[in-house]
Amino acid sequence: MVQPGAETLPIRKVLGIPVALVSMDQAVSAIRQLLKTENPDLIFTADSQGIYLAQKDPDLKVAYETAAFNTPDSNGVVWALGKQGVNQKRVTGVDLAEKLLAVCAEDGHPVFFLGAAPGIAREAAERMVKRYPNLKMAGCRDGFWASEEESEVVAEIAAAGAHLVLVALGIPRQEKFLMAHREQLGFRAAMGVGGSFDVWSGRVKRAPKIIQALRAEWLWRVLLNPKKISKVATLPRFAIRVLKASRH
Ligand code: UDP
Repeated sequence: MVQPGAETLPIRKVLGIPVALVSMDQAVSAIRQLLKTENPDLIFTADSQGIYLAQKDPDLKVAYETAAFNTPDSNGVVWALGKQGVNQKRVTGVDLAEKLLAVCAEDGHPVFFLGAAPGIAREAAERMVKRYPNLKMAGCRDGFWASEEESEVVAEIAAAGAHLVLVALGIPRQEKFLMAHREQLGFRAAMGVGGSFDVWSGRVKRAPKIIQALRAEWLWRVLLNPKKISKVATLPRFAIRVLKASRH
């Protein structure tokens, strides 16, 4: 079957934010195409929190609108699409990002990991290189820097010559960083990957399959990290907005 390119993917808006109606395979294949050209394309994972935040954050909204496409990353977004009569499966960022590493290993694209606490990006990279021995790491850098160091961070990534840059700074910082420096970073494709390096490094356990099946990953995350409560608190607000919008 011929897979569609990023420009022809079907899109639906959830609270005004475009979400691509893609399968995991179609998302991987579209990004594989984007990696073949020099144009700096962005891919974001649209989850309920991000879409909720974008209602009040014009810069985040512009980032989602500028992206080549945004994946339906969370159960909340899949549910919101269901309210529009769309039967969509989740395309989770951490799984998509790992599949992209397999593509990069196969097609010879160097990759840069930016983000997470000191040492984590490197640990994640070491584990991924073990899993995909042909993977070329262009570099790694943690996600904690002072604002006056930002130009140095950008220069380091640009000098590394990565085709794919994965940015794990959390929503909305990763989206804003990529928008602000898109032209200088020198990538062909870049993606916001949230907590993926924490998972790949082995420091954070993903929810067991049963919890994923019960759609209770949010509960798992809060139990592991109570700071996540503010993220979870946006879920009912997102749901209320979707319900209000679906009545009009
Ligand atoms: N992070 C970072 N710099 C910051 C704030 C956060 O590198 O200033 C990292 C954090 O260590 C974690 C990731 O960003 O690895 C965010 O993960 P989270 O699971 O919160 O992402 P989200 O829920 O937004 O997908």
